[in-house]
Amino acid sequence: MNLVIAGNGITGLTAARTVRKVLPRAKIQIVSNESDYPYARTALMYIFMGHLKERATECYERKFYKDNSLELIRDTALRADTKACTVYLESGRTLPYDALLIATGSTPSLYDWPGQDLEGVQGLYSLQDLQKLEENARSAHHAVIVGGGLIGVELAEMLHSRKIPVSMLVRENSYASHILPPEESELVNFEIRKHRIALHLGESLKEITGTTRASGVTTVSGREIKCNLVGLTAGVSPNTGFAKASSIDCARGVLVSDLFQTNAPGVFAAGDCAQFKEPGGPGRVEQLWYTGRIQGELAGLQICKMLSGQTPGAPYQPGVWFNSARFFTLDYQAYGTMPKDSKSVLMIDHANQKSIRIACHGATRAVCGFVLMGIRYRHEVCEKWIQEERSLDYVLANLHEANFDPEFSKKYEPLVRTQAEKAGFI
Ligand SMILES: Cc1cc2nc3c(=O)[nH]c(=O)nc-3n(C[C@H](O)[C@H](O)[C@H](O)COP(=O)(O)OP(=O)(O)OC[C@H]3O[C@@H](n4cnc5c(N)ncnc54)[C@H](O)[C@@H]3O)c2cc1C
Repeated sequence: MNLVIAGNGITGLTAARTVRKVLPRAKIQIVSNESDYPYARTALMYIFMGHLKERATECYERKFYKDNSLELIRDTALRADTKACTVYLESGRTLPYDALLIATGSTPSLYDWPGQDLEGVQGLYSLQDLQKLEENARSAHHAVIVGGGLIGVELAEMLHSRKIPVSMLVRENSYASHILPPEESELVNFEIRKHRIALHLGESLKEITGTTRASGVTTVSGREIKCNLVGLTAGVSPNTGFAKASSIDCARGVLVSDLFQTNAPGVFAAGDCAQFKEPGGPGRVEQLWYTGRIQGELAGLQICKMLSGQTPGAPYQPGVWFNSARFFTLDYQAYGTMPKDSKSVLMIDHANQKSIRIACHGATRAVCGFVLMGIRYRHEVCEKWIQEERSLDYVLANLHEANFDPEFSKKYEPLVRTQAEKAGFI
C-alpha cells in the first residue's frame, strides 16, 4: 500500500501520522518543496521578531519521520497521471501510489499589479518568504503593505519591530470591514494607527514603480508613496497548481466531497487547498491552522478505509467556527457566525480597547456568535453554548463561566448585561 502526500504542512503531516497509526505497514512518502521539518506557519512572525528560534517552531522532534517510517522527499510534485496512479516530481523521479493526498496549502493572492516582480516586492507565506524579508528589510527605508488581512497586520508589526516606517493600503473603508462589525473594525484601525503605521483606508494599489528594485507605489486615487519594500498581503488562495496540472477538478480550491475525495479515484485533498462541493453555491474553503489539523486527521482516516477496502467513514462536518488573532497588542477572538437575521448585544470600552459582542438569532434568541476584542473567552464554553443553542438570557446569566482573563482584571459582564437591558433584550 503506497500513500503519496503532496505537502508537509499541518494537513499533510497529520494525515501521515493518522495513516501510520492505523496501517503500520503502509509505505508513506511525503513530498515537500518548502522545509525538511514541519513547522508552525502561524509563528513565522515570531521568528522574524526574535521571540522564537526557527527550530522552536517545529511541530515534532526531528526523529519523527524515522520513528514513524515516513519518507520525506524534498522535491516539487509537478503533476499526477491519475490513470497510471503516478506522481511526477521536478527531479524526474516518479512515485507510484495507491492513494494520493493533495495537501498543498495556499499561495499569496496576486492581481497582476505592474511592478509586482521587482526586487523588494514579496508576500509572506513560507520560510523562503521569511528569508527574503530578512534580506529586503536590511536595506528598507520605508515599506508599503498592500492588503488588510491578518497577514498584512502581522507583516506591519514585524517591520515596525525593526523600526522600518510602514504604510498600509486597505481597499475597504475600515480594516477588515467585510469580516468585522464596524465597531470592532474601528478598534483595529485605532490599534494599527497607535503603532504609528500610516493606515490608508479606501486605497488600492495601482502600480509598483522602480527599475530593478521597487522605489515606490502609486495608488488608484493617485497617491504616491516612496518605498523600497512592498508586502503583498491581499489574501491567500488555495494552491491548486499541482491538482490542475493533474486535470483534477478545481474551482477556487481542489474540489472534494465531504469524504475528501476528488473526482479522480484514489485522490484526496484536504486543508487550505481543498474546497468542499456544496449543492447550490460556492463551496467552503477553510484556511485555518486548526481546520487543517482536523481535516488532515479525517482525510487520513478516509484514506485508511480506502486502502483497506472498507466503506468510507462519517463525512466531515465542520464544527463551530473559531478564529483568533492578535493585532499588535489587541487580542481578537470570534466564535460561530452572525447570520443576517441575527441581533447582537455589544459592550464596548473605547478607553481600554475592549469589546464583547454576543449575537443571537432574531426569532429564537439562541446565541450563535461571539466577537471579542481585548478580552479572551474560553473556547470550550463559547463552543458549547453555540452548539447547545443556549438562549441569550442563559448566556448573559452565566457569562462569568466564559471569562478567561486574569483574576484581577476588570470584569465586563455587568456592563454587557446593562447593554442588553438598554437594547431591550432583557
Ligand atoms: C503568516 C501566516 C500567519 C498565519 N496565522 C494563522 C493564525 O494565527 N491562525 C490560523 O488558524 N491560521 C493562520 N495561518 C494559516 C495557516 O497557517 C494555514 O491555514 C495552515 O498552515 C494550512 O495548512 P496546510 O497544511 O493545509 O497548508 P500549508 O501550511 O500551506 O502547507 C502546504 C505545504 O505544501 C507545500 N507544497 C505546495 N505545493 C507543493 C508541491 N507541488 N510539491 C511539494 N510541496 C508542495 C508548500 O510549500 C507547503 O510547505 C497563517 C498563515 C500565514 C501564512
